[in-house]
Amino acid sequence: EAKRAHGARYCVFEPLMKEQAWRRGSIEGELRRAITDGQLFVVYQPIVDLRNGRAVGAEALVRWRHPERGIVPPIEFIEIAEETGLIGRLGEFVLSEACRQFVRWAAELGAQAPLLLSVNLSRAQLFEGDIAAQVATALRDSGLPPAQLQLEVTESLAAQDDRIQARLHELKALGLSLALDDFGTGYSSLASLHQLPVDVVKIDRSFVSQSESSAHHRVLIEATLKVARSLGMRTVAEGIETTGQSAILQALQCDKGQGYFYARPMPAEDAARWFVAHVPQAEAVCVAPAL
Ligand code: C2E
Ligand code: MG
Ligand code: MG
Ligand code: MG
Repeated sequence: EAKRAHGARYCVFEPLMKEQAWRRGSIEGELRRAITDGQLFVVYQPIVDLRNGRAVGAEALVRWRHPERGIVPPIEFIEIAEETGLIGRLGEFVLSEACRQFVRWAAELGAQAPLLLSVNLSRAQLFEGDIAAQVATALRDSGLPPAQLQLEVTESLAAQDDRIQARLHELKALGLSLALDDFGTGYSSLASLHQLPVDVVKIDRSFVSQSESSAHHRVLIEATLKVARSLGMRTVAEGIETTGQSAILQALQCDKGQGYFYARPMPAEDAARWFVAHVPQAEAVCVAPAL
C-alpha cells in the first residue's frame, strides 16, 4: 500500500522533477556562456540621503540579457550560479564592471558623480577562492578608492560562523565598508547585531512596505534604527515606494533610502543622466553649510 502510494506520488512528480533538472542543467550551461559571451550587465539603483533627498551612491545589481528570453532578473539565476560554482566569476564581473563604471563617472561627471558603490556578495563568494584578493584586484585595477566601496552581505551570512567572520574582517581591512542586507528577514536578532562586523544596516523592503499600514512594523523599524545607531552603524531603508513611506523613514531618522519612489535600477547611461539631475553641483554643496 505504501509502495503504491509512493508509486503514485512518483508518477505525479517525476515529469516536474525531470523538467526542473533539465531547466537547471540548461540554465547552468547558458549561464556559463552568458558570462564568457558578455550577456551579463550591471544596472544601478540610486541611494539617497533621506535628510535632503540628495543622491549619495548606487547599488549595483546584475542582469542577464538572454538572447531568447530577454532580460532575466537575478532571482532566476543567482541561486543556480551559487550551486554550480559560477558565482565566483559572476561576482568578479559585477565587481570589476561596477568599480570601473564608478571611476568613469568620476572622470565624466566630476562633482556630480555618485560616490558610494554598493555591491552584493553572496555566501558562496566568501568560500570560493580568496574573496579579499579578488576585491583588492578589482579596486586596484579600476583605481576606485576602497572607502567608496560597500559590500552587502545577508544576515545568514554574517551570523556566528568563525570562518565567515574571518573573511569579513579581511574584507574590512581593505578599507571598504560592509552592509547587512535585508535586515529583519534572517535569523539573527537585534540582540546579536553588535557581534556583526558591519557598518551599515539595510532595513528590508518587507518592513518598509508595511510601514504605513502597520504600527507593529513601524515599531520594529524604529527599534532597529535605534539599536543600529547606538552601535554607531548607519542605516538604509530598502524598497521605499511611496511618499508616505519616505516620510516615515525620514521621521524615524533613517540615514539613507533606496526604492522605486526615488529611482529604479537603471543601465549605466540612464543612471548617469539621473545622477547629473540629482547630485548637486560642487558649488551648491559648498554653499549649503552657510545657509
Ligand atoms: P537586494 O540586494 O536586496 O536588492 C534589492 C532588490 O530590490 C533589487 O532586486 C531591486 O531591484 C529591488 N528593489 C529596489 N527598490 C524596490 C522597490 O521600491 N520596490 C520593489 N518591489 N523592489 C525594489 P533585483 O535587482 O531583482 O535583485 C534581487 C536580489 O538578487 C538582490 O536583492 C540580491 O540579493 C541579488 N543580486 C542582485 N545582483 C547581484 C549580484 O551582482 N551579486 C549577488 N551575489 N547577488 C545579487
Ligand atoms: Mg543588496
Ligand atoms: Mg536587500
Ligand atoms: Mg532583498
